[in-house]
Amino acid sequence: GKPPYDPANIFARILRGEIPCQRVDESEHALAFHDIAPQAPVHVLVIPKGDWVSAADFHAGASNAAIAGFWRLVAKVARDLGLEDRGYRLLSNMGEDAGQEVAHFHVHLFGGRRLGRMVP
Ligand code: 5GP
Repeated sequence: GKPPYDPANIFARILRGEIPCQRVDESEHALAFHDIAPQAPVHVLVIPKGDWVSAADFHAGASNAAIAGFWRLVAKVARDLGLEDRGYRLLSNMGEDAGQEVAHFHVHLFGGRRLGRMVP
């Protein structure tokens, strides 16, 4: 089964201010910050403030307001970083097969160069 949310994960610690981050934007429901090991000229992580491990938590545990607030911040960051014209990519790894490293739901936002074909 699905493991419970671990409040010691690194993104929970960033949310609590125990670990610094290069903040891009923040709202009531979400925080956006630069990935520590950027894979593109723009590589931002957007994380919800709720205790979500994966998209499985979308159908239970997360309120509609929290889900909407999260995606609104994703869209705002993409717009504010000037990525709407040339485009960008969102990616989210869920669980072991996808190689999810941090057990707090997050969306990667990549942009600033041609990203090539997405492969599984
Ligand atoms: P995942 O593999 O779980 O989809 O992505 C985790 C991402 O978090 C990786 O791209 C990794 O570079 C990033 N990351 C891991 N630890 C930290 C950290 O302490 N600070 C920041 N800003 N990014 C981190």
